[in-house]
Amino acid sequence: MIKFIQKQLDISLINTAIIFAFIYGLMFNTSVILYKYEYYQASFFNSIFELLKQFIYAYIATFIFFFGLALHRLLFITGSIFLFFTGAVASYYLFYLGIAPTQKMMPAIYGTEISEISELISTRIIIWIIFSLSICIFGIKHFNPQTTKSFFSRLLMALCLFLAINNIIFPKFKVLKTYFPIQYLHNSYVHFFGSKNHVRLDISRKFDFHVTNKEENIVGVLVIGESARYSNFGINGYERDTTPNLEKIDNLFSFQGHSCENVTHLSVACLLSRHNEQNLDKVKSETGLLSILTSLNYDTTWISTQSISKYYAQNENTLYDEVKFSLIPGGSLLYAMNSHDGLMLPYIEARLEKQGKKFITVQLSGSHWNYSERYPQEFTKFKPVQKKTAKLDQASCSREELINSYDNSILYTDFFLTSLIKLLENKNAFLIFVSDHAESLGEDGRLGHGSEFAPEQRDIPFMIWFSTSFKQKYPELVNAVSSYKGQIVSHDYVFHSVLHCLGVESEIINVNYSLCSAKK
Ligand SMILES: [Zn+2]
Repeated sequence: MIKFIQKQLDISLINTAIIFAFIYGLMFNTSVILYKYEYYQASFFNSIFELLKQFIYAYIATFIFFFGLALHRLLFITGSIFLFFTGAVASYYLFYLGIAPTQKMMPAIYGTEISEISELISTRIIIWIIFSLSICIFGIKHFNPQTTKSFFSRLLMALCLFLAINNIIFPKFKVLKTYFPIQYLHNSYVHFFGSKNHVRLDISRKFDFHVTNKEENIVGVLVIGESARYSNFGINGYERDTTPNLEKIDNLFSFQGHSCENVTHLSVACLLSRHNEQNLDKVKSETGLLSILTSLNYDTTWISTQSISKYYAQNENTLYDEVKFSLIPGGSLLYAMNSHDGLMLPYIEARLEKQGKKFITVQLSGSHWNYSERYPQEFTKFKPVQKKTAKLDQASCSREELINSYDNSILYTDFFLTSLIKLLENKNAFLIFVSDHAESLGEDGRLGHGSEFAPEQRDIPFMIWFSTSFKQKYPELVNAVSSYKGQIVSHDYVFHSVLHCLGVESEIINVNYSLCSAKK
């Protein structure tokens, strides 16, 4: 019987799949193991034992993939190249930046515009991809897998292929969801084909809202920063003077903030929503504060240098549907890639000329990677910065260059915010600046944002400013802000503060979360 089976099996293809799976695991899943090891609280031996066990599970799963692909020579070649390419990209980001292809990262991964991709590619990742593909192609040449004629082998391969596809759709073992390739394949599947029947509840219709003042020309501005860290602002006590202009502004209050999440598409939705980070799952089921202001006849412009339309396009109703749009111009990515935030100022100025109540949301590119591309040359105050000649990512810069470039981007945000405040100075206006999330600059080897368990990625700046005219009209609202001195102000405060400061009343507005209401 055993002899019969041996005769029927295509041993060379089994060997090929065993070796491909092993190389794949060694090259790409090692980064997962190393990443997990750092977070294991167990003893050294327990961790090693547990991770070894997981590595074997992942190895078996990968073997099933490669053996399934061996059903046909062409399938094996294209499938292997695909797996080695994607494995190289995923392992690179996990190893060097601590960013895994989790479900919450999918909109960020697939929502990235072509023009943004070029900023994410470094020489090092290209070398790693080429090296990985060379290994794969060398393996294919060396083993030269042919489509087998053995019926029994084909049957087994078809079964493996079925198992592989089945595990992409419904991973059987939870642990496999954390290993490549199932991690990124499954999360991609959920991103593209997962349940999408969210109809956002329009809270502007569900609840009653009314405005207590008779203001005709009031202006509220919400500036959503990008990857800004609380501690890198001079105004917050940073040793470097990264905010020389903000420090001179009157009626400006700066707080230590806490972000709801550490990726843009979740944080932005959360900060505009009445729900907090404990109810993140409810955030996308309802509209946010912009829908309320639009229904109250505010001109709710959204202007941004970053294109986030794709983040929200996955559901039928999007955040953008809540805004009376003047996303300027067209797509939202201004002119070209690497547009500096300052390019928005003339558009905002023109918007402010118009009569009527306005609420303008400005989403910055702020301090998003690539830092040195975020500001014009004359803002290169801290040197040396990243070299422009080489293609780099965060992991290939020295820490000094990284922080210098980052701090220059904060210096430019200081310029942007003060320029915007100057445009609002003589109006009945207030402005809130809050970052979507912060950024790691090497804490425990982490870079960028979107990592699991990274407290520094939630430590954001939160500022509020009032014009003289607003202060004269509503001294009690402005004076209330001082009572939050020294407090941590989270994203939860955005929804309630904006509406309450604008004089909107409703059963769903909680003044305990409004900076315009004195802390009790
Ligand atoms: Zn962001």
